[in-house]
Amino acid sequence: MHEASLVQGLLSAALAAVERHNADNPENRALRIQEVECELGLISSVEPQTLTGCFELFAEGTPAEGAALTLRTVPLDCDCAVCGHVFRLTRRRFVCPQCGSDEIHFSGGHGLMLVALRVESEGKDHARTH
Ligand SMILES: [Zn+2]
Repeated sequence: MHEASLVQGLLSAALAAVERHNADNPENRALRIQEVECELGLISSVEPQTLTGCFELFAEGTPAEGAALTLRTVPLDCDCAVCGHVFRLTRRRFVCPQCGSDEIHFSGGHGLMLVALRVESEGKDHARTH
């Protein structure tokens, strides 16, 4: 399943980011992830609901359990092979807005990229013992 591999990649990136944060900030460790913000490529052809469902499943038992997944679709930079017009697609309609040609070039637009994490950290909670 395509969504599953995307979500696994995203989740491992998020968990690795938390580990790095905790290694750098041993006095203010992140306890769990509250929100995962990410960008979804315009042509990644996955349903946000499916991604969210997958994420909830994979996050179980990790610090990301219960985290909210915020998805933003990123526009795709394109140029037209016929008239040379450079434009950004925000919908999956692969036609040059200037000349109507469907011979357009683009790169990327796949995948799911981690943008930001919101974490709950120990902070001032000094009652905790290890
Ligand atoms: Zn064109």
